[in-house]
Amino acid sequence: DAVLFVVATPIGNLGDMTPRAVEVLQSVALIAAEDTRHSSRLMAHFNIKAPMISLHDHNERQRLQTILDKLAAGDSIALISDAGTPLISDPGFILVRAVREAGFKVVPVPGACAVITAMCASGVPTDKFVFEGFLPAKRVGRKQKFEALIAEERTVIFYESTHRILDSLADMRDVLGEDRYVVVARELTKTFETIHGDTLGNVIEWITADHNQQKGEFVLLVQGVELESSDGPSPEALKVLDVLLEELP
Ligand code: SAM
Repeated sequence: DAVLFVVATPIGNLGDMTPRAVEVLQSVALIAAEDTRHSSRLMAHFNIKAPMISLHDHNERQRLQTILDKLAAGDSIALISDAGTPLISDPGFILVRAVREAGFKVVPVPGACAVITAMCASGVPTDKFVFEGFLPAKRVGRKQKFEALIAEERTVIFYESTHRILDSLADMRDVLGEDRYVVVARELTKTFETIHGDTLGNVIEWITADHNQQKGEFVLLVQGVELESSDGPSPEALKVLDVLLEELP
């Protein structure tokens, strides 16, 4: 039966393409890609010849019928994004839901994903975490986001781009304080991979001093607060209380 495969591709290092991803992409009748020009290089590298159509945030709904018709005709299709796992801060949610609702099977083909890749090497607690995707583009929105997370006990993870990394870290410090432990994971699986953890104050000093550290793709990991310790509220909890009290009108 025809299925929709959701196929992860590398986030930088081509060695992370899985044999199963290659096999599936070589076998399908059509590949829906976020940016066909971008993905054609990956396809050439792995000798994948299936035709591609674009599927991005602006045409995902329009593409639905084309893809459902193909599946109905018995052709399997693969969905990929520019990098990593589709649907994770990438298009595909509307498609996957529609395909499932139409009664077709959706088969995941797992592989690289920046949030998981960053977290497993960052030394922050991994038992519970919140993935927030990209931060709002504007300062006001970012600060509101951080304010809502002041008392979060779980690790909080964001995606960020080179353009906003300094501004986002500065806003984070304004709201969460310079003592909060954060990890900046940059250019994962690539030549200049850096995973650097310290207090927010120190991280900002470090990244401001070294221009090279401001380049590339970033995952930001913020350690949650420990609100309860064995003997009552933790020192962090009291600090959080201070911050929250300040916010009150
Ligand atoms: N679907 C992708 C995934 O599975 O991680 C994420 C796509 S999202 C449009 C791109 C963002 O993911 C980048 O701005 C960055 O925050 C993060 N990212 C992707 N690749 C990365 C890498 N190699 N190192 C660090 N962050 C990366």
